[in-house]
Amino acid sequence: MSKLYFRYGAMNCGKSSSLMQVAHNYEENNKKVVVIKSVIDTKGSNYLESRTGLKRKVDIILNINESLDTYNFNHTDCILVDEAQFLSSNQVEQLWKIAKTSNIPVICYGLKVDFQGYLFEGSKRLLELADELEELVTICKCGKKAKFNARYVNNIFTLDGEEIVIDGSNKNIKYIPMCGSCYLKMIKKCQK
Ligand SMILES: [Zn+2]
Repeated sequence: MSKLYFRYGAMNCGKSSSLMQVAHNYEENNKKVVVIKSVIDTKGSNYLESRTGLKRKVDIILNINESLDTYNFNHTDCILVDEAQFLSSNQVEQLWKIAKTSNIPVICYGLKVDFQGYLFEGSKRLLELADELEELVTICKCGKKAKFNARYVNNIFTLDGEEIVIDGSNKNIKYIPMCGSCYLKMIKKCQK
């Protein structure tokens, strides 16, 4: 019986580079990994790209509501999921079952909360089901640990808009990792 892992953090905490490092370690030992991401994550098309310059092809781009049961994971030693917050609850449950019944470790990387501070659907189910949780730390501009992902539109902090707008898909939108007190200060400022 293998484990389901959820390694989460705010924006820029090195999720993709950590995933690619794990893939590299497996492959160096002649093990097979399968890299998955959701179709919602349009960034990089069918490649993962880290801010440190690493690049890797994605093996499965999962459609919204597509079942993982249709895939054959025979001879797979590890399943790695990038931007796992975009998975549906069902997809997380399917991954959990794969870990338990097919004995394949599943390591999911993703954001915990959206720009309004609420759990993403996939992250919620991962927090409920994962055997192991690990927080990947990134630092706020003030030096404290960042927990939130502040959304800026045209360089102005905002709490409005769709839950999911992919970083880089729209030049006017960017996300900044922020600690609780800096995030709260920004909310107060924008409510004035
Ligand atoms: Zn701060």
